[in-house]
Amino acid sequence: MMPFGESLLGQIRAVYLGRGTDKEILRRKVASGGAVTAMLTYALEKGLIDGIVTSKRTKGLEGEAVVARTKEELLETAGNRWSIVPFAARIKAKIEEEDLKKVAVVCLPCQAQFFGQMRDFPILEADFGNRIRYIVSLFCMGTFAFEAFLNYLRVKYGVRAEEIVDIKLTRDFLEIHRESGVLTIPLREAFSYLQTGCLVCSDYTGVWSDISAGFVESEPGWTVIITRNQRGEELVRGAENDGYLELRDGSHVLGEVLKGAREKLARAQRNMAQLL
Ligand code: SF4
Repeated sequence: MMPFGESLLGQIRAVYLGRGTDKEILRRKVASGGAVTAMLTYALEKGLIDGIVTSKRTKGLEGEAVVARTKEELLETAGNRWSIVPFAARIKAKIEEEDLKKVAVVCLPCQAQFFGQMRDFPILEADFGNRIRYIVSLFCMGTFAFEAFLNYLRVKYGVRAEEIVDIKLTRDFLEIHRESGVLTIPLREAFSYLQTGCLVCSDYTGVWSDISAGFVESEPGWTVIITRNQRGEELVRGAENDGYLELRDGSHVLGEVLKGAREKLARAQRNMAQLL
């Protein structure tokens, strides 16, 4: 696979809006449409893969790499990856520990680059890269430097890490969900606490993936799905044909995705200019 296409969004085969058809998936993943869960459930149940390595929220904003082998286990990993960083090395270790032979990896764009390179240019990691069947990257604007951000929330807003049950991203705000209610913080304010590497990262969708997934404001309840190659396209269409996934054309939202990608690139360029 050649990862770089003509545009900032990388190589694009097709763009869809997708939604899981399973009521349980929809109930648990209302905001995002649950398309990633639906297509990976299809891959598991049809034997295309033997496991999925993804991240799961543990406490507060932190997460760990986990292996899901069933729909139920996959649903358990629901959470906002925007704030969770299982390092690529930990994901790789999970694949080896669990001896997964055909694995799907759900990851962030920086991790998709690592896994894509390991699979496509397996010079040093031949044993590992050939186990990766599908790389699914989630759209990403950045992840937090945990300690600094939690400290800021505690000092400025009196929010303790243990209270946080979810974090949601809207166009201009970050919503911190607690048992006692929702705290809304302007995104600009939260951005000062991003990981340093994220400030110079320019890949919004994960150009090294087989499939990128995320959402746009204008289509709530639907997942934006970008397929980048034959492998990704077959997975998505297979899940649709077997009734796991409902699809419609998503080309009209590509401009919105591109806007996010441009914003991320502009931020990276600004920060890079300051560093140089
Ligand atoms: S912004 Fe870039 S470096 Fe940061 S987590 Fe997302 S993909 Fe990785």
